[in-house]
Amino acid sequence: MAQTSPTPLLLEVERASGLYMYRPDGSKVIDLISGIGVSNVGHCHPKVVQAVQEQARKYMHLMVYGEVVQSPQVELAEVMASTLPDNLHGFYFLNSGSEAIDAAIKLVKRYSGRNEIITCIDAYHGSSNGALSASGNEYFKQSYRPLLTGFKHIEFNNRLALESISCRTAAVIIETVQGEAGIRVPDKEYMLALRERCTYTGTLLVLDEIQCGAGRTGTTWAFEQFGIVPDVLVAAKGMGGGMPISALIASQKLLSVFTYNPVLGHISTFGGHPVSCVAAKATFELLKEPGLLENVKRKEALFRELLVHPAIREIRSCGLMMAAEMDSYEVLKPVIDRALELGVLTDWFLFCDNSMRIAPPLIITEEEIQEACKIILQAISDTYL
Ligand code: PMP
Repeated sequence: MAQTSPTPLLLEVERASGLYMYRPDGSKVIDLISGIGVSNVGHCHPKVVQAVQEQARKYMHLMVYGEVVQSPQVELAEVMASTLPDNLHGFYFLNSGSEAIDAAIKLVKRYSGRNEIITCIDAYHGSSNGALSASGNEYFKQSYRPLLTGFKHIEFNNRLALESISCRTAAVIIETVQGEAGIRVPDKEYMLALRERCTYTGTLLVLDEIQCGAGRTGTTWAFEQFGIVPDVLVAAKGMGGGMPISALIASQKLLSVFTYNPVLGHISTFGGHPVSCVAAKATFELLKEPGLLENVKRKEALFRELLVHPAIREIRSCGLMMAAEMDSYEVLKPVIDRALELGVLTDWFLFCDNSMRIAPPLIITEEEIQEACKIILQAISDTYL
């Protein structure tokens, strides 16, 4: 196995269910990060597992994306469309967040005929060449140049910086809530001004809801909380309920550019894999069940109420997408290690290493929140001098 860090976690898991991961010795670990924002409906939700098993028996891969009528894709599009405004009823299903961002980059350049794309400082859009070009952290980009040209990075949540968006800008690609920057929630006024500036300059607004979508913030889509509608929406991670799938979502008019000059403007062998599509459909049906999303804000408030300690300087959150900031990585890392010894898996962020990542499955109960917070506070008092 290739490694991507000199010190991987090396936590061995035999099975996982709901909030828990079980080690080979039978001990359980509370998963407070959902595989980085994936297991929103919990690990191995029975309805997702059933959908996967049934589809795997019918058919798996048939043909590259787009040529064969596959009802799992069509039915997933229908369920997702029912959660989205009319201009977001076109779906191109792909495999990963990065792949969908890459396709979005192609789409906006092609549709607009412009080649400048604006993204934000400390944005994370993925690790492929295109998505890395869109991302806004120098440390992760510096060794991989040349990347794509035409990208400009502006400060997130700064209204003055919106002046950079002009009639030369094909698109602004932005996370509705920044994830890897350490959970940065923009002001509503900023998002409204962003939408207005994009409309004024004929710039497409692409929202990356790969991490903050699929119910994570307490609404199916985070943008619902900001009173705006994007031109393009990108989803992945949590939408698959644990299976790999992403979606590039826009109007059919926009997406139609992939059909001519050249035909097959974006190609993906496994895009819209039927087994992933049925898992995603089951996931969206679960997100629609009464109570699940409605309770997210209450659960967020409980975490905020319980996680009080002088070591915690600030909590930033939007639903169950939370960051508990400490003084430094040197303070945080021993807490994370100790919490794991005590049975709670947390993490820090790619571009924010002094903040603890807390993003549990949305199905976490109040008792489980209490237990998890008790362990985190215990880990802090065991390590904080
Ligand atoms: N955008 C955002 C906001 C993300 O959080 C991520 C993954 N952390 C990606 C894009 C890339 O997704 P993937 O890892 O599936 O390529």
